[in-house]
Amino acid sequence: MSDTIFGKIVSGEISSEFIYEDEHCIAIHDVNPQAAVHVLVIPKKGIPRLVDAGAEDQALLGHLMLAVGKIAEQLGVAEAFRLVVNNGADAGQTVFHLHLHIIAGQVFAEKNL
Ligand code: 5GP
Repeated sequence: MSDTIFGKIVSGEISSEFIYEDEHCIAIHDVNPQAAVHVLVIPKKGIPRLVDAGAEDQALLGHLMLAVGKIAEQLGVAEAFRLVVNNGADAGQTVFHLHLHIIAGQVFAEKNL
């Protein structure tokens, strides 16, 4: 857990609809979607940034990747989605509790967002 908005969502202190939950992570719709489908996959463990993950988090990081696949299937976007992790403020990270953006529901003509 962490003292960020996502830590509070994970703990239930702030209520949010979980579209997916398992032992290690949750998924919610982004409040400010950048595409027709924009979902955040959030580990229950509050790691601030991807680079703050350590060797002890190896299984968790793999778990998140497998959860992304399941959630994409659940959302009906498994054939085409982008997975984004912003690491650090200069990369656009605004919430310092690791999260993965699943972005889909449009054709991405450009290689960059
Ligand atoms: P970052 O910029 O840190 O990679 O992504 C943070 C994301 O969280 C943003 O896309 C923002 O719209 C989303 N967000 C921020 N606060 C909330 C919230 O309280 N609820 C939800 N569902 N999304 C949030």
